[in-house]
Amino acid sequence: MATIKVTSENIFPVIKKFLYSDHEIFLRELISNAVDATQKLKTLSRSGDVKGDLGDVRVRVLIDKKKKTLTVQDHGIGMTAEEVDKYINQIAFSGAEEFVNKYKDQAEAIIGHFGLGFYSAFMVADKVEIFTLSYKDDAKAVHWSCSGDTEVEMEDTIKAERGTDIVLHINKEFEQYLEDATVEGLLKKYCKFLPVEIAFGKKKEWKDGKEVELDEENIINNVAPAWTKKPADLKEEDYKTFYHELYPTQMDEPLFHIHLNVDYPFNLTGILYFPKIKSNLDVHRNKIQLYCNQVFVTDEVENIVPEYLTLLHGVIDSPDIPLNVSRSYLQSDNNVKKISSHITKKVADKLAEMYKTDKADFEKKWDDIKMFIQFGMLTDEKFYEKAVDFALLKNLDGEYYTQKDYIEKIKANQTDKDGNIVVLYTQDKDLNYTYIERAKQKGYDVLEMTGELDVHQMSQAEQKNSVGSESESEKKAMLRFVRVDSDVIENIIKKNVNENANDNYTDEQKEGMRKAFEQVLPENSKLNYHINCEATAEDALPVFLTQNEFMRRMKEMSAHQQGMSFYGQMPDQYNVVINTAHPLIKELMDKMTSENVNENVNVNENVNANENANEKTEKKGKTEKTVWTLKDQDERLKQLFDIALLASGQLKGEALANFVNRSVSLL
Ligand code: ADP
Repeated sequence: MATIKVTSENIFPVIKKFLYSDHEIFLRELISNAVDATQKLKTLSRSGDVKGDLGDVRVRVLIDKKKKTLTVQDHGIGMTAEEVDKYINQIAFSGAEEFVNKYKDQAEAIIGHFGLGFYSAFMVADKVEIFTLSYKDDAKAVHWSCSGDTEVEMEDTIKAERGTDIVLHINKEFEQYLEDATVEGLLKKYCKFLPVEIAFGKKKEWKDGKEVELDEENIINNVAPAWTKKPADLKEEDYKTFYHELYPTQMDEPLFHIHLNVDYPFNLTGILYFPKIKSNLDVHRNKIQLYCNQVFVTDEVENIVPEYLTLLHGVIDSPDIPLNVSRSYLQSDNNVKKISSHITKKVADKLAEMYKTDKADFEKKWDDIKMFIQFGMLTDEKFYEKAVDFALLKNLDGEYYTQKDYIEKIKANQTDKDGNIVVLYTQDKDLNYTYIERAKQKGYDVLEMTGELDVHQMSQAEQKNSVGSESESEKKAMLRFVRVDSDVIENIIKKNVNENANDNYTDEQKEGMRKAFEQVLPENSKLNYHINCEATAEDALPVFLTQNEFMRRMKEMSAHQQGMSFYGQMPDQYNVVINTAHPLIKELMDKMTSENVNENVNVNENVNANENANEKTEKKGKTEKTVWTLKDQDERLKQLFDIALLASGQLKGEALANFVNRSVSLL
């Protein structure tokens, strides 16, 4: 009889506690040990330390439902009695007790730190037995057993084959681990790419409507997955095949891949795929899988790879990623940090190279990959710096430009009087058709910004282009993105101060027209309309809607950002522009009649801040005011307002039907 040394009283409660989180990992731990033992044997065989044919070296998982045991069997190096004592009994060596006391509450960290993999068996078993025979000459087989307390039994036994059987007497609570389907599911999850064959039961086949067992063993894993091979040895087809092996339910082909291969300053291999994303919903359906020497660790890679890369698919394998440790531990791990920034660099370099070598092909892929790239630029400064050279903007002619090239293209024509470079865009070219046409007439270019993250990209570009050097010569031009329907095009890109000078109406006349239109606005409308008169252009619509760029964009951005719900809750606001340069409006203006009315003026409210105190006192009391009104024009005003709505795609339902009927009767 032997005793587990020093720390077991502390270790077992910790292991049992761990049971409430990820108890299924016991299988991964035991199989990893079995694979290690087999790999060690192969190494010894290669070096000549083990002579002869190694024979069957498959690892097997066996279930005995009657005895309620699950066995992990290998034909690896095995252990002598001395080794069992050293590696199993003295589970943790010096310093362990102190460590355990310190991290009592962090079972994961302890298990990871000390590699207590084997002891995780006690999470699901009342009793664990080891039958083992070392590869060494004259070794005697050993039987070890322990029921989860500090006492273990060790005795000589008879075992014909070299290697180790770990037998778990499964606890009543965990009898799911005696079910074939559960165990096979776990094996598929954790062992799919282990380097030694893992056998579980027999292969099955459908014959005459029945499932029959074949003689052949059911092998769970692919021992040489693509990422372990040299890129030079792989064809495009191999990468695709591997993609589907990783994600059996994924039907689409990936767009392209990046093969990662690093051996300094840390070890890392892997393949990342850029998937075709059809909707926001399936973004996170298939995740990047993290492996440690081909052992699956997790597919929760948040905090291990940069957030935007979690949108990618594929595998990362690094022996430097610690197994079994808590999330917070992983984040603070230096290797993990380095891995993360290395991957960012690799991905950026690959994209830059793709853009450089085949622009046309890159443009073809752009719409599918832009979400990753924009997300990366928004969340990772380092990535932004590289990506700004290959992130593309697409205009309505389907041409692609980098930001720099685009600025070059439009600079001459689309710089306003204050030196701002104004980028015009639309989020719906059909809806904005009339606005786009007017912009085009001026020779302006319009971008199509329909992506999920486009508004964020625009804001970022504006921000990056607003901080220039103070000195005039080095000052960067301010970049402003404005949706084509956010104002009259002449106002969006103001060329000179006097552009609106052709307006000959008085403020009172305009106020009269404003009031007249106010009366035809729909009541209880969800939308808020703000009416004003402006002499736009003769050939523009008589009445049209615009929407303030800032407010609209804030609202859109609030959809993605926390803490901006204030904007999200605001109703949509539109400006109704009455175009006093249009003949129809001119005609209406001329039809207005004026009368003089006396009004009580409350000076304190009406006087604007610039006026001086003397003027204020003069204005007190009654004033005579000219009021302009438009009589009997209701139908036409309604019609004009509806046309404005129609041109912005906002005329719907009953209002649309009324418009149609009114139009017919007007004809
Ligand atoms: P780790 O695998 O992290 O070292 P474990 O507690 O899982 O920690 O195993 C401790 C040691 O026991 C291993 O390092 C190995 O030397 C030995 N061992 C465990 N399982 C086997 C096995 N199936 N065959 C041979 N040796 C084993």
